[in-house]
Amino acid sequence: MDMRFTPEENAFRDEVRHFFRTALPPATRQKMLNGQVVSADEHRAWQRILNAKGWGAPHWPVEWGGTGWDPVRIYIFREEMQFSPAPQSYSQNVNLVAPVIIAFGTDEQKNYFLPRIRNMDAWFCQGFSEPGAGSDLAALKTSAVRDGNDYVLNGQKVWTSQAHQSNWMFALVRTDSSVKKQKGITYLLLDMNTPGITVKPIITLDGAHHTNEVFFDNVRVPVANRIGEENKGWDYAKFLLGNERTNSARVGISKARLRRAREVAATVPCDGGFLIDSPRFREKLAMIDIELKALEITTLRVLADIRNKADGRQDPKTSILKLRGSELYQATAELLMEAAGPNILPHRLDQLLGKHTGDEEDLAGIADWMAAAAPNYLYDRAASVYGGSNEIQHNVAAKGILGL
Ligand SMILES: Cc1cc2nc3c(=O)[nH]c(=O)nc-3n(C[C@H](O)[C@H](O)[C@H](O)COP(=O)(O)OP(=O)(O)OC[C@H]3O[C@@H](n4cnc5c(N)ncnc54)[C@H](O)[C@@H]3O)c2cc1C
Repeated sequence: MDMRFTPEENAFRDEVRHFFRTALPPATRQKMLNGQVVSADEHRAWQRILNAKGWGAPHWPVEWGGTGWDPVRIYIFREEMQFSPAPQSYSQNVNLVAPVIIAFGTDEQKNYFLPRIRNMDAWFCQGFSEPGAGSDLAALKTSAVRDGNDYVLNGQKVWTSQAHQSNWMFALVRTDSSVKKQKGITYLLLDMNTPGITVKPIITLDGAHHTNEVFFDNVRVPVANRIGEENKGWDYAKFLLGNERTNSARVGISKARLRRAREVAATVPCDGGFLIDSPRFREKLAMIDIELKALEITTLRVLADIRNKADGRQDPKTSILKLRGSELYQATAELLMEAAGPNILPHRLDQLLGKHTGDEEDLAGIADWMAAAAPNYLYDRAASVYGGSNEIQHNVAAKGILGL
């Protein structure tokens, strides 16, 4: 198995790197470098730049605006985007709902939604989890009762990320409670402006508003917005959840965080020198660096397998990518917190910046970065829960890889 990149693949890497460095608006780039939250408008503006370049959804089939790149080029594109760093295309949109529409939607649904998703005119949130239905997703209870050409929805979703910014939701709902729980689920697309939908914020540990509760009170959804057949939603959801895992290693983001940790540690005073000179800190940096390299090689091995496989079926090894990816993502957040240390406190930050000899822009960047380190660390605790918890990934790996 050859896991080295070819000269053509390396040239492709240079091309996408150059584009990300030059096309991303500077204010958005600075926020990304500082680990700050990018606004909905900034996200949308960047997605439109990508779309205009023809890179709004590279992994889609060419007939729907994809690029025709092979899995290795898709990997390089994603890694460079994360490492640059530039905002990634909103995953719920381009990685989760769109492939389901492409595989199982009607021509009308494809023609209506796919161009809008690529340009982020349609912004979907994922309405799967409910109180009592997370890991055991098939236990979901939100009911959809057929009434003429509509379904009427009642119930509740929870942890719905970005529901407050989205204008569409893809949801799993219960259309039959008399059969085995997986057999009575239907997949619907809902307009978030439909009367009867209430979105309430959940404020997470970092003090920010990422996620929500969503309530349905006699919400009417046209039958035309159903994906595929009634009561076959579980099959479509399984297809989608496989895609969710493939994209979860986030090696590029973790590498970008290590780069930032090195830069910041070079400015933080420690024992008469700087934190970067501390053997303990350097050892931690090196350990994470090595583990990331190992994860990158594992990712390339999975990709090499995909390259050699014609059936395109999900590989259970992707559960390992999610597992190790989220653990290292959390480890890099922890390292950044350590680099920031007590300097996060406002009076310490002022002292630090007073001693700093860099230019003004540099100082502002460090101050913003320090301020973002703690919230990012806190929010990233969720990385081992969302997208299927790490315990569930252990179960998938045990069954699919070890055959237990
Ligand atoms: C920040 C954040 C954003 C999210 N965004 C979305 C979103 O946009 N849309 C959406 O639909 N959902 C979203 N989720 C929900 C997420 O998918 C669920 O939280 C997750 O599936 C776990 O479900 P749960 O919270 O009900 O926990 P539970 O399923 O109740 O699990 C509780 C604990 O038990 C463990 N456990 C459960 N079953 C098993 C088992 N069989 N074997 C071993 N251990 C087990 C779990 O690993 C976990 O540690 C989000 C969650 C978070 C935290």
